[in-house]
Amino acid sequence: MCWTRRASLTFPENALDNKLLDILACPVCKGPLRWHRDTQQLVCRGDRLAFPVRDGIPVMLEDEARSLPSDDPLLKD
Ligand SMILES: [Zn+2]
Repeated sequence: MCWTRRASLTFPENALDNKLLDILACPVCKGPLRWHRDTQQLVCRGDRLAFPVRDGIPVMLEDEARSLPSDDPLLKD
């Protein structure tokens, strides 16, 4: 049994918890953001901007945000 190989390289489950999400707001419109764990992005639906999260740290800069097309899947659900 070699349980030492169970080292996890995955993104920590709680790296961006609900408390942090409560604090974070879109720097453009101050509106709420949606966390997309799969793509590691925080999305403002109002502005159609996706903010990157690097090493668990949200980069809340308009210059770093990616503009999303209106039909982007990140804007759905
Ligand atoms: Zn916004």
